[in-house]
Amino acid sequence: MLRTLPPREIRGGLAECIKHDVIRDAEGFANLETNIGRALALLDFDYLNDLIAHNVEIKAKVVTADPLERGERAHLNFGHTFGHAIETTLNYKKSHGECVALGMAAAAEARDRSCADRRCDAPADRSRDRFGRACPRADCKPIQTC
Ligand SMILES: [Zn+2]
Repeated sequence: MLRTLPPREIRGGLAECIKHDVIRDAEGFANLETNIGRALALLDFDYLNDLIAHNVEIKAKVVTADPLERGERAHLNFGHTFGHAIETTLNYKKSHGECVALGMAAAAEARDRSCADRRCDAPADRSRDRFGRACPRADCKPIQTC
């Protein structure tokens, strides 16, 4: 089925994979960091299928552990508050995954600017640096939250 999807949609799905590893699986994130070129090339469908299975497993565990979204499940929203705002602002010209990627970068940036507590998890920082922090707006300014 992956072979039938436009590359843009697959890459958008990779943003959700990054999100899952950032919130739940540091080892998976390190693996994805190592293999991101392989993933983005969209040539190795066996690897992509394994990646999807890994991420479905993460999401299922989180949803099963918190079916009423009263705690841990909220972590699945990482990048989505900003991402949904970006989607709306850009009138849905970017895909959901593209906006979530930008949203994760924005959330990490906001965290950096608002949180003096540097014990926050390193994967969020690494995802921002590794997978880009580019905003489509040339006049974009970092979000000041404090
Ligand atoms: Zn999403």
